[in-house]
Amino acid sequence: MSETGSNFDLIVIGSGPGGYVAAIRAAQLGLTVACVDKRESLGGTCLNIGCIPSKALLHSSELFARTGHDLAAHGILVEAPKLDLGAMMARKDKVVTILTKGIGFLFKKNKITHLVGSATITKPGEVSVTAADGTAAAYGATNILIATGSVTTPLPGLDIDEERIVTSTGALALSDVPGHMVVVGGGYIGLEMGSLWARLGARVTVVEFLDRILATMDGEIGAAMQEILEKQGLEFRLGTKVMAANARKDGVGLTLEPASGGKPESLDCDTVLVAVGRLPYTEGLGLEGAGVKLDDHGRIEVDDHYLTSVPGIYAIGDVIAGAMLAHKAEDEGLACAEILAGQSGHVNYGAIPGVVYTWPEAASVGQSEEELKAQGVDYKAGKFPFAANSRGRTTGDSDGFVKILADAGDDRILGAHIVGPDAGTMIAELGLAIEFDATAEDVARTCHAHPTLNEAVREAALAVDARAIHI
Ligand code: FAD
Ligand code: NAD
Repeated sequence: MSETGSNFDLIVIGSGPGGYVAAIRAAQLGLTVACVDKRESLGGTCLNIGCIPSKALLHSSELFARTGHDLAAHGILVEAPKLDLGAMMARKDKVVTILTKGIGFLFKKNKITHLVGSATITKPGEVSVTAADGTAAAYGATNILIATGSVTTPLPGLDIDEERIVTSTGALALSDVPGHMVVVGGGYIGLEMGSLWARLGARVTVVEFLDRILATMDGEIGAAMQEILEKQGLEFRLGTKVMAANARKDGVGLTLEPASGGKPESLDCDTVLVAVGRLPYTEGLGLEGAGVKLDDHGRIEVDDHYLTSVPGIYAIGDVIAGAMLAHKAEDEGLACAEILAGQSGHVNYGAIPGVVYTWPEAASVGQSEEELKAQGVDYKAGKFPFAANSRGRTTGDSDGFVKILADAGDDRILGAHIVGPDAGTMIAELGLAIEFDATAEDVARTCHAHPTLNEAVREAALAVDARAIHI
């Protein structure tokens, strides 16, 4: 190993939304910062193989499906669209390149040193970076921030080859539309990737272990999404587990079994997507040697200042506890950088939205009805359907609803859940409401422009007090 002699106030390991945002904020606050990533292309899972490529393809596939199915109703007659999957993938890659290069620009602007290589913490205050060609260099740091993210949870009996048996990474780069895709896991990735390939013409079967999909969201959201996606052609096998997969030249033979045990059955398909969750990634970091403690789930343990069990070593994002979401990682990155600069960074974990980018979208913030019931909280619910929202009718997007849960005593909004067109954008209003401790009455008294989808939010707030106007 060669000593470089470079010393930084902060070395960030991982350039995903947690790491790169922390690096920029720390540099803004006057710290000297280096950010190291194994990938040359900045942005981590989110920009390279996650949020961004998936949303680019979801948008393209939505345009394809709409052109094929929806235009005639508007009096627009076109030939059935033809798919150029190569061009669709090339567009997705271009979007990724533009955005990842954009982070490189922001690093230069903020004078952040970008190191490419695999980082190991050799001791508190020292990081060794090994480049792809095997050369290593050591760097000193007053503080080290671990933001190494997560990887796909493997499933015993399913050997991932990223061709026939794929993770989300393979599912974002298939060279042909599968005839039949089986998606294992009815969560975020399963529904987004399942929707994407179904829109492009695949038969899609979602196999889910539990008796409902989107288990981390409010129960009514999961039920409504299942009904809507079934109308779009997706098939669901709930309460079912995949025991084994046998990849052949011409496809994959799966063995399924009821989740509670019972008679196995076989299911043939062309492609299997494994989407049963993600695991924190800490391989090769040298945590044991450095004395950094992990919890029972393999996540790095931190206190409420993101400090690990070792002074001077911090961690944020997917590698610590909490929702594995890009904006959660970003917010922790901001808070941690501010704490390191002597400020009082803070994340309100009760106001982090979750969005599933199917169409319609599913979005939630705050607590679900099931969580409130389990805690014995006395709450009121207000619900308003998009079928009664004039803007939804004008665009033809009338599936879904807005549901607001408010404290029965003081009317504070405790949770909000939307299935509907652009739900991911709409939920921001209710996230802000929760952040400001607003009541349903506050939202109900706020003037909303007409005709907009967000009028459904106001109507749901009115419905909390049984006084919605348009239903
Ligand atoms: P990551 O983004 O995972 O970045 C970690 C980085 O650390 C990686 O670049 C890795 O190369 C690097 N690294 C790891 N170990 C080392 C080491 N030893 N040395 C050097 N570098 C190292 N979330 C959303 O909020 N919205 C979405 O729409 C969304 N869509 C998604 C779609 C898919 C298909 C997937 C897989 C995930 C999606 N997510 C989404 C989740 C989101 O990507 C993650 O929550 C987010 O990327 C976590 O950020 P992070 O900074 O913690 O880590
Ligand atoms: P997930 O936790 O969202 O869903 C996994 C699903 O798999 C669950 O419903 C679970 O019950 C099911 N499951 C587990 N074991 C199973 C088995 N053996 N057989 C059948 N089903 C099984 O996980 P994911 O979809 O893999 O996504 C990982 C994480 O990435 C998400 O939790 C989310 O944090 C993040 N992500 C976010 C977005 C977004 O924000 N739009 C998109 C993609 C991924």
